[in-house]
Amino acid sequence: MGAACYLCEHQYGLIPGQSAGDAVGACKLCGVLACLAHGMRDKSRPAYVCGCCVVGLLTVAAGKTSGGAGDSPAGPGPGAGDDRDPTEGTPSGFAIWAQGIEDVEDLIGDLAEERWTWLRHDATYLSELLAGPDTPASLKAYARPGAARARALMGAAAALATQLNLPESELAPALQHVVQEVRRV
Ligand SMILES: [Zn+2]
Ligand SMILES: [Zn+2]
Repeated sequence: MGAACYLCEHQYGLIPGQSAGDAVGACKLCGVLACLAHGMRDKSRPAYVCGCCVVGLLTVAAGKTSGGAGDSPAGPGPGAGDDRDPTEGTPSGFAIWAQGIEDVEDLIGDLAEERWTWLRHDATYLSELLAGPDTPASLKAYARPGAARARALMGAAAALATQLNLPESELAPALQHVVQEVRRV
């Protein structure tokens, strides 16, 4: 019997196009074990990263790209606040990794493939929502004309967080706002 996937254990939603099952790798950032439907391999690193941390990386990259728009999340990644080693998945790990992420493709290298069609669609929809007149004040930095890249990254983070059905406690504050807005619309 293989090792259990942390995200399966928590009954998080699946990344479409992959089957849930035994864990295939440990997340480079937070250390949890994740299955194929709950993680992805970043070939350019190379590293395996769990779905929670993909969301966290996109959020941190969005905050960085927006030019001081967002808050930098205090503790992204699964279970910030539970009893695992608090030095794992520290913000600095996210910040360093996120420095190399300007576009969603920089993290999800095969974004153009069919299995990510839903993510491209949802991220586009959400980024347009962020640019719209109803964007709340806390997210206004993402509505600026020059913030298209930040919007795209934040849209992808929100789309993936929604697909995985992550609890709000897993999300960075700025992303919580976006997800709340999406649920309100
Ligand atoms: Zn899983
Ligand atoms: Zn992780």
